[in-house]
Amino acid sequence: LSDKLDKALHVLKGHGSITEVNVAETLKEVRRALLDADVNFKIAKEFTTTVKEKALGQNVLTTLQPGQLMVKIVKDELTALMGGDAEGINLSGNPSVILMSGLQGSGKTTFSGKLANYLKNKKTKKPLLVACDVYRPAAIDQLHVVGGQIGVEVFSDRDNKNPVAIAQAGIAHAKANGYNVVIIDTAGRLAVDEVMMNEISNIHKAIQPQETLFVVDAMTGQDAVNTAKAFNDVLNFDGVILTKLDGDTRGGAALSIKSVVNKPIKFIGTGEKMEAIDVFYPSRMADRILGMGDVVSLVERAQEQYDEEEARKLSKKIAKNQFGFDDFLKQIQQIKKMGNMKDLLGMIPGAGKMLKDVDIDDDAFKHVEAIIQSMTPKERSNPAIINASRKKRIGEGSGTSVQEVNRLMKQFDQMSKMMKMMQGGKGKQMMQMMNN
Ligand code: GDP
Ligand code: MG
Repeated sequence: LSDKLDKALHVLKGHGSITEVNVAETLKEVRRALLDADVNFKIAKEFTTTVKEKALGQNVLTTLQPGQLMVKIVKDELTALMGGDAEGINLSGNPSVILMSGLQGSGKTTFSGKLANYLKNKKTKKPLLVACDVYRPAAIDQLHVVGGQIGVEVFSDRDNKNPVAIAQAGIAHAKANGYNVVIIDTAGRLAVDEVMMNEISNIHKAIQPQETLFVVDAMTGQDAVNTAKAFNDVLNFDGVILTKLDGDTRGGAALSIKSVVNKPIKFIGTGEKMEAIDVFYPSRMADRILGMGDVVSLVERAQEQYDEEEARKLSKKIAKNQFGFDDFLKQIQQIKKMGNMKDLLGMIPGAGKMLKDVDIDDDAFKHVEAIIQSMTPKERSNPAIINASRKKRIGEGSGTSVQEVNRLMKQFDQMSKMMKMMQGGKGKQMMQMMNN
């Protein structure tokens, strides 16, 4: 979608003046792009009509920079279509009960973990996960694995085949043990059917959750809208979770769901890791679709993951020329914690296009890590002592080669110099260099 829109808006962005023909052409392209991204045709049509009216109303053709105004109108409309401001989750209950619903494979179990982790990090929340997928023993195991990863307790009962009873027992367990949020993970099926709908509806009626969330795989395109409608008819859910919005997943679902079921999208999932969760901001999503990059999200995520204390220690070390391979390793782990590299880079404006054909491998770091781990502590803190024979040993120990060790040492050297420069108040200069 973003490619097509890029193309459509490209003409307008660059030019100082546009004609009425130009506007019509552009809108046609925009509409085609929306349809290609599985946006419901009615919505796409309404969208372009509104944009056209706004454009004419604001006299786009007579302004100084009609292209930019047009981009703004398209962006504002996209934002409005995906629903005003970010909406939170209702956590007023004690405990607040959150029910997950959605098809099998949509990402309910993964998102249950992400949400528990997200709330746990808010400090005032103590979440409990409840496993109500009773059909596959592996489903209960999966939730236990997720809970283990994030340090959140999982309530399950392998001998009980009644999801309603388990949900109720889970809530009782939460009340008795001081949990203030209960996240109920349920079973889904591959397609909408009566058995699944009855089951989720029964759970819903019995526990009356503060918040019912519908989880949907963004990659399912037009189908996502139909599924959302079916679940909404039965549950009248409170919000939508759009998962698998990583890489170049089309944004069509985000555009349509809100207008079809009139429920806000609350969170997005952007990867398999527990940290790959973001609040859904319609305007950021519109920016992303328009290829401007989701810089604000990137900055926020970086801040969340980056330990300030560590940062202070690190800058002291750099200033004293004590930056070593151990610190380098920590940096790499820090970056990895932030999520998938390609996702992160994709949020940088302009990078999306550049990266499209490049295969960024999260495993690229593995060799680097292996090499550093094959170094002795002395070598790590004082890389200058790494001579030819040490390089040979490190290469063999890490299953790489002397060449790879050499390459890493060279990169490390450059990085240390660069960091020294940044610290020396030359940061601005550096940024300018990189921007050119
Ligand atoms: P459930 O059947 O609804 O509980 O779905 P799961 O949580 O088991 O997820 C199904 C698959 O999708 C798993 O392999 C997850 O790792 C994967 N998955 C879930 N959310 C995301 C996401 O946001 N991005 C990506 N890339 N994969 C995801
Ligand atoms: Mg599951």
